[in-house]
Amino acid sequence: MASRPPSRATAPTGPGSPQDMPPAPGQHPLDPGTMPQPIRDELLAPDPAAIDTASKELRDGLNPCPRCGSTEVRHRPGSDRLICLYCRHEWAATRVEEAFGLGEGIAELRGTQVASGARDIAADAKSLRSYKCGGCGAEVVINTETAMTARCHWCRHVLGVNEQIDNGAVPDAVLPFHITKDDAVARIRQFVGKRSLFALKAFKDGFTPENVVGVYLPYMVVDARGNADATGVGEIETRRYTRGEGKNKQTVYDADVWRVQRHVDFTVDDLALESSAERGKLDTRSNTHNVINTILPFDTKNAVKWNASYLVGYSSEKRDRDVQHLMPRVQEQMLAIARSRMQPSVQRYDRGVRWERERMDLKGTRWVSMYLPVWLYAYHQPGPGGGLLHYIAVNGRTGETMGSVPVQPWKLLLAALSLGTVVEALALWIIAR
Ligand SMILES: [Zn+2]
Ligand SMILES: [Zn+2]
Repeated sequence: MASRPPSRATAPTGPGSPQDMPPAPGQHPLDPGTMPQPIRDELLAPDPAAIDTASKELRDGLNPCPRCGSTEVRHRPGSDRLICLYCRHEWAATRVEEAFGLGEGIAELRGTQVASGARDIAADAKSLRSYKCGGCGAEVVINTETAMTARCHWCRHVLGVNEQIDNGAVPDAVLPFHITKDDAVARIRQFVGKRSLFALKAFKDGFTPENVVGVYLPYMVVDARGNADATGVGEIETRRYTRGEGKNKQTVYDADVWRVQRHVDFTVDDLALESSAERGKLDTRSNTHNVINTILPFDTKNAVKWNASYLVGYSSEKRDRDVQHLMPRVQEQMLAIARSRMQPSVQRYDRGVRWERERMDLKGTRWVSMYLPVWLYAYHQPGPGGGLLHYIAVNGRTGETMGSVPVQPWKLLLAALSLGTVVEALALWIIAR
């Protein structure tokens, strides 16, 4: 049986269809000088990855003590310093604010400037990274979803993730824990103590604040420059009087109605945005509101240059949001800031201003990725749809504590009823007088 010869690949375009044309010689497709505005501005804007914060002194997998080379380096609790457990050498970390000039030039920001640790996460980046142990040569795997350091199980060398390239897990800076675990436990105990009257019995029975976990959460810290315009109407009360008698008595206001226009140029220093989608979402069904936002702010000015040794003994969460994902939130927050900046200048409109049109123009932003310290106590309350996850969070710098405690509904109901009884009794007492 004769097989048919494989059909020859035919030309991709048939006769008469349009043909691709090579570019005409001598014509550069992207000469910024020949482009019209605003495309020219866009093309001449500074390189988006302009700030290199990579730690040149740290090689990958290695965070040695600068004096003796031991990898037994720890964060000294309650400080921003590192200490070598072997030779006791102690050294201060460099604040990124000064090291990379992040406190300067906000008023001149132009375009989008991104520090090297805040660059886009490569789509194919692996969370599992393996390192050759400097002590014995064994391969040690670190899962960057939850940890940035690991101990070699053969020689007990400590390895850390230092390279910022491609996986987006290594931030530019870290704000070390100042609140110790004992302190966090005490604060959580106090927080729950104040709410224990209505707390769910199962929660109280299983309450072990010692299970609190220190977690470094990923944030983008943004400096921004922009301007905003708003137009609307403002009212000033000119007269107030009453009309009618008895039940028909009404208070009437006369007001002058002004057209109001405002323009504001402003800058923002260190706006902190959650850069993990899991934490940033406000899904109250599975996650009792955004607890972390309630323990802000953090003193991000004191953040130090990345060194994986700060993360020994702590858990961490990998960033999964890039600059482009967070840009709309910067716009949103900048508009809110613009409104509050305009507020003092419209005080004379004592009946208020109603803004009808608002416009925000973001002129420049600077992005730095940072790990911020949080102690977390979690409790899963079983229920329909996967139940509810309750958190109590302690700011690892200020000790500010906030969270949610699952309540016993019947206790709340009882409290409401007994309160009602008190109100009723009070009403009877007033009538009786
Ligand atoms: Zn040492
Ligand atoms: Zn080893």
